Amino acid sequence: MPIDFTTLANPAMRNLQAYDPGHDIPALRRLYADGGGLLELGSNENCYGPSPLVATGLQDELDTLFRYPDPAGKALKQAVSEKLGIPVESIALGNGSHELLMQLAQVFATPEDDVLVSRYCFAVYPIAARAAGARLVTVEANPPDHAMPLGHDPDALLAGISANTKMVCFANPNNPTGTWFSFDRLARFLAAVPENVLVVVDEAYIEYATDPEIRSALTLIGDHPNLIVTRTFSKAYGLAGLRAGFAVAHPDIIKLMEPIRESFNLNAIALQAARLALSDEPHLDKVRAGNAIERDWMRARLADLGVEVLPSQTNFVLARFGVRTAAIENALFRRGVMVRPMSGYGLGDHLRITLASRVENQRFIDTLEEVMA
Ligand SMILES: *Cc1c(COP(=O)(O)O)cnc(C)c1O
Repeated sequence: MPIDFTTLANPAMRNLQAYDPGHDIPALRRLYADGGGLLELGSNENCYGPSPLVATGLQDELDTLFRYPDPAGKALKQAVSEKLGIPVESIALGNGSHELLMQLAQVFATPEDDVLVSRYCFAVYPIAARAAGARLVTVEANPPDHAMPLGHDPDALLAGISANTKMVCFANPNNPTGTWFSFDRLARFLAAVPENVLVVVDEAYIEYATDPEIRSALTLIGDHPNLIVTRTFSKAYGLAGLRAGFAVAHPDIIKLMEPIRESFNLNAIALQAARLALSDEPHLDKVRAGNAIERDWMRARLADLGVEVLPSQTNFVLARFGVRTAAIENALFRRGVMVRPMSGYGLGDHLRITLASRVENQRFIDTLEEVMA
């Protein structure tokens, strides 16, 4: 009898579905190399790339790659601490913020606990909750006719909290919808959440926000020790390929995360590159401003084509193509234009489109126009 390894596995691990990273991009790049090239609008990467300081400042690290990196990532933590005005003891570094989200669930969520999310939340939270054996509880998002369609509703999340709730997770602004809620609503939400319920606010896209009503939750940690904020270098800092992120929380929370952190979880290049990227505020400003212009432009062009687009404060837009969605996605794909299908999120009649340079965005619109005709 062959062994059924599933029966040997931790029950929480038996029916997990892996995170879906989208298409096989290296293969597609080869396939489209001779045409106009592959237009990659599927993964919310930063078309502006990282600060130029990153490339010029990495030589020392390249010369010492035979050494282990700083296990504590002290220099990067120090830089984050100075930049955001938070103590070093309140910072945990992750090999991407995905790792930190998994760690937080591992530390705090048990099979007796509920993890609360909203419909259309980032796909990593359900995986993190289930891997910890916790029960995932999902509340409704805003209805399609709301001013912030399909966005998270803090009141619904609040109403979803029960005696079993250990942790609430959401992104603001959110992926995959691009929607957000205001700092005032966030503050009111936190004031109403019981202090023994942890609130994880994922700010992967916060640097892209230009609407003054949305602000980071970081300033609320002092008043709410149950609040955890995660950030990443993958998006506005343009370092998705290196894997670096951080969490900010009460030092006692950070201490509890430390024992399960893998030794040297951030590599030497990532530590140094993230530090250099963080130091280049003008570059970040350029990325934010350029992205905001393209966001307005893209929303207007899609509207011209009669496509409904959700409000966005991120570097992507979620657009509704209705019954033709799959056909349009396939037709774009055959022309080397890759966007992100959304059926995994229960949004099968939408596509998520990463904002890129004007030339790339124009190619997307031209191809879409051809495909829709
Ligand atoms: C991209 C993204 C992240 C970042 O993940 P990394 O592991 O840091 O690359 C986190 N949360 C959301 C909502 C994202 O879209």
